Amino acid sequence: MQGFRDRTQVEDVLALISRRIERLDVEPVALRNTAGRVLGEEIRAGAPVPAFDRAAMDGYALQGHETKDATVRTPALFHCIGEARPGHLCNLTVGPGETIQITTGSALPRGADTVVRVESTQREGPMVRVLEATAVGRHVGRIGEDIEAETVVLSAGRVLRPQDLGVLSAVGAGTVAVVRQSRVAVISTGDELITAGHLPSAYQIADMNSGMLEALIVRDGGVPRIVGPLPDDRDRIRAEIAEAARWADVVLISGGTSTGPEDHIPGIVAELGELVIHGVALRPAGPAGLGFIGRTAVVLLPGNPVSCLCAYDFFAGPIVRLQGGRPRNWPYRPMSLPLSRPLVSIAGRVDYARVKVEQGQVEPLATSGASILSSTTRADGFVVVPSELDGYPANALVTVWLYDLFPPSG
Ligand code: AMP
Ligand code: MG
Repeated sequence: MQGFRDRTQVEDVLALISRRIERLDVEPVALRNTAGRVLGEEIRAGAPVPAFDRAAMDGYALQGHETKDATVRTPALFHCIGEARPGHLCNLTVGPGETIQITTGSALPRGADTVVRVESTQREGPMVRVLEATAVGRHVGRIGEDIEAETVVLSAGRVLRPQDLGVLSAVGAGTVAVVRQSRVAVISTGDELITAGHLPSAYQIADMNSGMLEALIVRDGGVPRIVGPLPDDRDRIRAEIAEAARWADVVLISGGTSTGPEDHIPGIVAELGELVIHGVALRPAGPAGLGFIGRTAVVLLPGNPVSCLCAYDFFAGPIVRLQGGRPRNWPYRPMSLPLSRPLVSIAGRVDYARVKVEQGQVEPLATSGASILSSTTRADGFVVVPSELDGYPANALVTVWLYDLFPPSG
């Protein structure tokens, strides 16, 4: 078994990703299916919202200046000539000494400029007594007060929230151009693997990577399709990779990515397309790689589950997010905290160290083996030790990338 002769630095892999990975095209999607999708175009309001002046209160529409001396003792008297209801055209015009009973949301009738609240009035047959001076324009929602015509309501790149769908409805959008989601094939390989959901017998292990990768891809806005687990059968794996490269935007392959006799993946990718990177100065994901088959990106993820997660976090995740028009940055929350004890690393490679956060201090987890996926379950997050450092001393302030969106307890 031969090792890697040279390992590419993490920053060079990331630079290659920036150069080679492009945002996917936009596709039209019905408005109601766009929550969580990335807007592909700027949206402008074609018309003002609301498109008419409207009552903001239940009461009486009239000419506000006529109420200027009104008090409880000296009410101003108006003749009610009709009513205005939301969604109905009121064809009356309010003249001097006249008023129209109006409900919230109704278009303000012609001639009126003010709404007096119903609480400030007394009604007697056709007559309305106004008991309170009401300034001109009071309780009227102006045309365009919500959204002025021609303003940009949402910019391209926006990850649409439920309330954005409301605003898009208001400006008349029925179909929205959103960035196509990255289609991601997940192929885990290894003779020892069985599909998750069964307890493995002797010499077998459950495929831990497919389920984890599927969830990561969904989190990053991609659409995963699980192809494996596949046995270490070169022809079979080659055929599945070739097939996946036809429909997928990214193919993720876990296992068989190193330099041993059963590590078929690098050779297959080189045959089908180009293997640009094989071997990265990153612990615990040294046997990672990156290539292309046609326009499809292929990421080689080491089979060890922690290595697989690490390689996804560093390389696959940014690709899925960039293709989908999302920020390439980690979707983890950074927190700056002191180390409880030294964090040892080796200069020349990047380290992905799982840590716990206890009482405001960062505790490196003793188990650093790449096969111990439960170390990531016990961890609150990870610290990245850059290639030029051989670690951090106790009490050094480090950035913890929290796996959860919520602060850890303890
Ligand atoms: P490989 O990268 O194929 O050399 O695998 C390295 C180690 O990771 C071996 O101990 C494999 O059994 C283990 N492994 C590979 N793929 C998976 C997987 N999908 N789930 C859990 N462990 C795996
Ligand atoms: Mg293997």
